[in-house]
Amino acid sequence: MIGRGDPMNTIAFRFRGQDLLVPPELSDAQAAFGFDPEKSAAPAGSRRYSVPLPDGGSCIELLIDDPAAEPPALWRVAGARALLAAAAEQAASAGGSDDYSRLLRACHIARWIDESAFCGRCGTRNGFADDEFARHCPSCGKREYPRISPAVIVLVSDGADRILLARNAKFRNGVHSLLAGFVEAGENLEEAARREVLEEVGVAIRDIRYAASQPWPFPDSLMLGFTAIHSEGDIRPDLVEIMEAAWYSWDALPEIPNRGSVARALIDAWVDSRRLCQNDLRHPPKAERSAP
Ligand SMILES: [Zn+2]
Repeated sequence: MIGRGDPMNTIAFRFRGQDLLVPPELSDAQAAFGFDPEKSAAPAGSRRYSVPLPDGGSCIELLIDDPAAEPPALWRVAGARALLAAAAEQAASAGGSDDYSRLLRACHIARWIDESAFCGRCGTRNGFADDEFARHCPSCGKREYPRISPAVIVLVSDGADRILLARNAKFRNGVHSLLAGFVEAGENLEEAARREVLEEVGVAIRDIRYAASQPWPFPDSLMLGFTAIHSEGDIRPDLVEIMEAAWYSWDALPEIPNRGSVARALIDAWVDSRRLCQNDLRHPPKAERSAP
């Protein structure tokens, strides 16, 4: 057991490998918000972990089954990634409820527990620290914390009415999004944004501004969203990660990512700003009368 918390606030998630297990009394959508460990029959054969939430006042209970184990009778297997994407989309459509943050943390920590079973320095089986949320090696004393990998995602505009959207080789057909990539060791976020855009489509950018962020636990990312303006170069997709890229006007966008993604939030905010700008041009504020 790790962490301490108020059992009154505890909700549970159960995983088998990377898959979420859904108790029989819940729909998949309900399972995104966890289950009450007091009300659901206590599953046998799971390892149990009490994981503190960052607010310090409550915990989630993680039950982790062996990936090779059969799902327990009546429990269903659900893809955690699809469930999380659906919960994020619903929250964004409903005005930004963050209830699914517990599922975000559960997915991230379940994976980390699985991947940090042994000390990275001496290979001894890791335990958990008593005084903080960390792995602890009983042999050499090394502590390991949940890994968080920063990645930048950049909305590049032409400084007027168009943004650069690209189709990644991994995207489902037709979806175009912003350019993104992991931050390299020793690199700051602005350098990462410049490098990713240059590598993927061959253009240089300026006026890089932070806009928004989103944790995404597949694998263990923290997406950091930026806006930037094109400074030079013609678009040349690298044809490895990026298969197509082009400028798109705010009122004629191709299919873009679903709500709930930081990419969509950046695109929506930019479209709103362009729409307001157009309205101002059509209906300019009346000039104030000059004093006599
Ligand atoms: Zn060690």
